[in-house]
This record gives sequence, C-alpha cells and structure tokens, in this order.
Amino acid sequence: MNSASLNSKHIKTQAQSLGFVACGLAKAEPVAEDVARRYQHWLELDYCGEMDYMRRNVEMRLQPDLLMPGVRTIVSLAMNFMPEKRQPAISLYAQGKDYHDVMRGRMQELMQACGLEGRCFVDTAPVLERYWAWRSGIGIITPGSGFISVPGYGPTVFLGELFLTAEADHYDSPLAPLPEEKTGGSLCPALTPEGLDARLCISYQTIEHRGPLPDELELKRTFYGCDRCLRATPQFAESQPTTEPAFQPSEDLLQMTPDDWESLTEEQYQTLFKGSAVKRAKFDGLKRNIERWLKQLKP
Ligand code: SF4
Repeated sequence: MNSASLNSKHIKTQAQSLGFVACGLAKAEPVAEDVARRYQHWLELDYCGEMDYMRRNVEMRLQPDLLMPGVRTIVSLAMNFMPEKRQPAISLYAQGKDYHDVMRGRMQELMQACGLEGRCFVDTAPVLERYWAWRSGIGIITPGSGFISVPGYGPTVFLGELFLTAEADHYDSPLAPLPEEKTGGSLCPALTPEGLDARLCISYQTIEHRGPLPDELELKRTFYGCDRCLRATPQFAESQPTTEPAFQPSEDLLQMTPDDWESLTEEQYQTLFKGSAVKRAKFDGLKRNIERWLKQLKP
C-alpha cells in the first residue's frame, strides 16, 4: 500500500458493517499544546493515584510517532456498549464481555478487510484516546466529566484507535471546539477544575485500587465502577441499547441478588466473570467492594 492510498469512505463503510457506531480519521500529529499541558499538570497533582502507567511514557502519549514510528493516520473507532438489561450492582460498561478483547478482535477484522498496515490499541497503550476521538470528529467532549459523546449514541461507547502508516485521502475535523477548562462541580468531588481526581473516584477505588477502601467511601448503587457522572451527562439521553451480543449480561449475572453477592465463592466468581472486565478487580478486590456495598445497602 502506498503512502497516500487510505480510502476513508471504504474504511468507514467497513467499520459500520463490523458494528462500530463511529469511525473518524485524523492526521497523526503531536497532541495540541494546551491538552499536553493539562495532562502534565494533572499528573503533577497526583490525580492518577496508583495508576502509575499514566506516568510512564508521557512523551509517547503526547507524540504518536514515538509510540509507532512512521504513523501517519489515526483512525478512531467507537462501539456502543449500552446493555439492554443490566445487573444493577455493576457498572454499565462491564455487564458483558471484556471490551478490550471484543474491540481488538473487531479492529483486527477491519484492518484485514481494508488491507491496512499498522497497529490497533484499545486502552492498553499510551494513547490519549478521548483526544483522538475528538480530533477525528467522532464525538464531542462533555464539559466537567470529559466523556466522549457520539451523536446518536451518547457517552456509552468504548473507544479504540488504529495507528496506520499510510496517509488518507480525507481527514475529519472535530465536531466542536474542546470545552473550556473543566468546571468541576457539585455532582461529585472527584470532578475538579483540573480534571478527574481518581483518588476520590468510586470507579477508580473499586477497580484499580488495591488494598482496603478508604473509610469514607460510600458504595450505594454499584460495587464495581460507578455510572453517576455518565448518567448525569446530558447526552446520556441519546444512549440506546447496543445490538452487540457480547456487551449484554448473562442471565446468571442478571439474576444475582444481594444475598448471592454476599455468599459469592471464588468458583462462582470465575464462572460468572469469565472473559469479563470485572476480573480486573480480582476476586479479593470484588469481595472487599461487596462487603462495603452490603454494609450500606443493609446497615
Ligand atoms: S465515576 Fe462516580 S465517583 Fe467517579 S467521577 Fe464519576 S460520579 Fe464521581
């Protein structure tokens, strides 16, 4: 494939037929200076908590050709994860199979179908995915929470990126300017004017954090993740059930009750969450979360 041969329309058509709800192309350039500055400031504030991988490869995160030499085009892709039914104790995004696997598989199919050369990333490499989704025009960034909202699908989408060595026949433009400095706000103390303070975030504490939960952490609705700010996003009203079977919860998961969660064994956990992103919290982490959740559910 020569360096000017990416047919953007063909890629988008194929992406749609593979179940992606949005696909956009951007030139692989260094990220905008103000975005880079904000990211570095966010790190200086220690808002990433124990997610040390956010501190590593900062330059690479801000300059795509350091991650993949020769990259010319970044294709951003989104899949709708809004499940039709849900287990209320688990965050919406984790009801079905692990999106890393589902999306990576689908992106590899897309690369094959279009004969693309490059690499695909799903939340596993130093890539500012929301920035690239914005840059490639597949969604807007919602002020305050910083989610990407895809028109017609809202913020309930997973994101992935293809880094390609060829140039494209057409690049997309952002749908709207980047929002002004985040306002933070009254919804949640973790949403600060400088960005998300992960240390105060239920999602971070119940998924990423190892060790005891902070005493003051209240788990009222979910014990894995938190959907409060997602649901509070005005564009959440645009979310609609996904047609992707992999993101639907199993009947067994749907039927779990607080009593079932209380008595969850490691064996049940392995069966219930086979191939699920919930395994990131590990069995011990999930039991820790359940214990705190039950305390607040049935004091
Ligand atoms: S996920 Fe929950 S705890 Fe985290 S910022 Fe959003 S509302 Fe706050």
